[in-house]
Amino acid sequence: MKTLSTTLKAIATGVFVVSLLSCEQEAKTKNSFNASQKNPFEFQVDSVLGLMTLEEKLGQLNLPSSGDITTGQAQSSNIAQKIEQGQVGGLFNIKSVEKIREVQRIAVEKSRLKIPLIFGMDVIHGYETTFPIPLGLSASWDMDMIKKTAQMAAQEATADGINWTFSPMVDISRDPRWGRVSEGNGEDPYLASEIAKAMVEGYQGDDLTSNNTMMACVKHFALYGAPEAGRDYNTVDMSHIRMYNEYFPPYKAAVDAGVGSVMASFNEVDGIPATGNKWLMTDLLRHDWGFNGFVVTDYTGIPEMIDHGMGNLQQVSALALKAGIDMDMVGEGLSGTLKKSLDEGKVSMEDIDTAVKRILTAKFKLGLFDDPYKYCDLERPKKDVFTNQNRAFARKVSAESMVLLKNDNNVLPLKKSGTIALIGPLANTAVNMAGTWSVATKQDKSNPVLEGLKTVVGDQANILYAKGSNVDYDVDYEKRITMFGKEIPRDNRSDKELLNEALAVAAKADVIVAAIGESAELSGESSSVTNLQIPQVQRDLLDALLQTGKPVVMVLFTGRPLAIVEENEKVPAILNVWFPGSEAGLAISDVLFGDVNPSGKLTATFPMNVGQVPIFYNHKNTGRPLSNKEGKFEKFRSNYLDVRNEPLYPFGYGLSYTKFDYSNFNISATSLAMDGTLNVSVDVTNSGDYDGKEVVQLYIRDLVGSVTRPVKELKGFQKIELKKGETKTVNFKLTVEDLKFYNSDLDFVAEPGTFQVFVGTDSTTEMMKEFELAK
Ligand code: BGC
Repeated sequence: MKTLSTTLKAIATGVFVVSLLSCEQEAKTKNSFNASQKNPFEFQVDSVLGLMTLEEKLGQLNLPSSGDITTGQAQSSNIAQKIEQGQVGGLFNIKSVEKIREVQRIAVEKSRLKIPLIFGMDVIHGYETTFPIPLGLSASWDMDMIKKTAQMAAQEATADGINWTFSPMVDISRDPRWGRVSEGNGEDPYLASEIAKAMVEGYQGDDLTSNNTMMACVKHFALYGAPEAGRDYNTVDMSHIRMYNEYFPPYKAAVDAGVGSVMASFNEVDGIPATGNKWLMTDLLRHDWGFNGFVVTDYTGIPEMIDHGMGNLQQVSALALKAGIDMDMVGEGLSGTLKKSLDEGKVSMEDIDTAVKRILTAKFKLGLFDDPYKYCDLERPKKDVFTNQNRAFARKVSAESMVLLKNDNNVLPLKKSGTIALIGPLANTAVNMAGTWSVATKQDKSNPVLEGLKTVVGDQANILYAKGSNVDYDVDYEKRITMFGKEIPRDNRSDKELLNEALAVAAKADVIVAAIGESAELSGESSSVTNLQIPQVQRDLLDALLQTGKPVVMVLFTGRPLAIVEENEKVPAILNVWFPGSEAGLAISDVLFGDVNPSGKLTATFPMNVGQVPIFYNHKNTGRPLSNKEGKFEKFRSNYLDVRNEPLYPFGYGLSYTKFDYSNFNISATSLAMDGTLNVSVDVTNSGDYDGKEVVQLYIRDLVGSVTRPVKELKGFQKIELKKGETKTVNFKLTVEDLKFYNSDLDFVAEPGTFQVFVGTDSTTEMMKEFELAK
């Protein structure tokens, strides 16, 4: 095999080659190194750099799309030729180990310096074995499990040639109009930080050179989840104090966990697009946080700065490089214009070298110089990808992510007997089960609800099915929300005929399961909406089903918090299943029949209506909070005339088939020293009829601060399992670190004074004790 080492043997000294060959051993302990440390690959990287022409350097900064998947307007052509000429640093969203091996072969056999390519992909919630959409996964509150999903995704993706994933996406969002809430972890910085860490550790493991771990890329840096009016790619404008306290923590957590790369967001931050924002990409990310990996733009992020009004392609490319961008996804601004900018003195060779070194370092970290084919074992996909074992795990994960929103009269769990009518446009669509951003999923291999129900009940119960309605009354709208192979073939019968068929089926059943809600492409990138209700045709179907007088269970598919006030009033049982992934149907059935007791809890507030948005539990108090606890309207207080302030379902909310009682809430002292620890404990008893899991949540409130503080902030949680009748004592420890926040000088401090600590089953808990943080 001809690799860089062989080339170098011909042109370099013996000592130099030996150093390169020892890279892999060194890399094992060097997933990351912080800014104050020396790059352990410096010698090797400098040695390679010394051999490169300017064109080859600029090539390393270039990340074209393979053409398999396109998400924007730009398209690169003649990729093979460019790779041969050393004009490409990596490729992304190319699927299959055979193709990747072939492309890598061009790089390491045909290009002059034989520098291997890095292969990226949006491996967001699993690879072929697909887990719930990230918002759903976050609702499991199970960090070990989330980490394991990332490990499994890495195992599968690397078996198929991928060594770099554009995940985790950790953008905090409080605006369900924004379609990409589905891709994140909800509204809370503490929970999202824990998830960011779990995912980075899961993807990267502790040895990036191993052939079953891959480099992670935290995105979208920064603040992408706060676009004005919830419209994707729109302007973000935010105070620094909010950035630091509420939006930055998950990105920082990923950096602290050693994430290898960062993706710039499309939006502007403080009036400068993130892609060209030096304060963000260099001062904050590298100098303050110590990030030492490389930064890639988002798709055409550089040329998009032209439309942002930052100059022409040459100007915005120089701006991006100088800001701290290292790799240009699809835009070809860096590779196309930097030579001119160098000639004109707009950028320096040092600026270019800095970026090239970071890309080369990443390739050394992955061990690609030692063996460019290490992720290209043609035998591995059969053994590692979409295996029965992986699918069995995904089935469990999906069930853990589901949130029981309502269950009057214990309609759920269903009995595996009698006749069950499964009705709704989401009931029998395999291709919609994986949800958004599931590039590698074999969409048609997911199991839909109908198949799952039939498999799980076997011949114990009779399952009847009718589609009941299309996804939407409007054909054009329906096309827009069922694209990318996620079509739900339009039934050309009239709405009335579809409904009549459903009612005839329902008439024969003991219970009705309505599988309704969003289609997969109603959330995700560029899927913002101004209406948070379930499409009208499906609401009409639901009403008709309710009018039969039979018990109705609503299985809700969604990629965002929805405003389902009427459904909540009328339907006795609602199970929110998000988009559960490749084992959707089986996992939904497991929960519906009680083989798994639901334990998911919302990580994003469900509003009463779209007008309440943005709505989130950790808001500030204002100078005019309501003075009544019932939420009744008060003139000249901070509320609405037409709707209460409370959401429909709060952050942290989720029911179980069993019941959990909280008692014996204790704190170890009423005063905490700056270097002390406060123990917080509470007993939780399963007093219902089923074994189950509960997410015990701890919140604090800082009563007086030098800046205003939120009414509650999550600072701890534990997911515990309790047998029927069992009691467990749950212990938390609080230290001064948990009480710190960024003050108006942006110093991270804890201020002495009174704090409240709350424990309970969701963010509305009122079980509270007070303590003082001593001076
Ligand atoms: C998205 C990114 C994604 C990239 C590459 C962009 O449109 O914003 O999240 O990683 O495409 O597919």
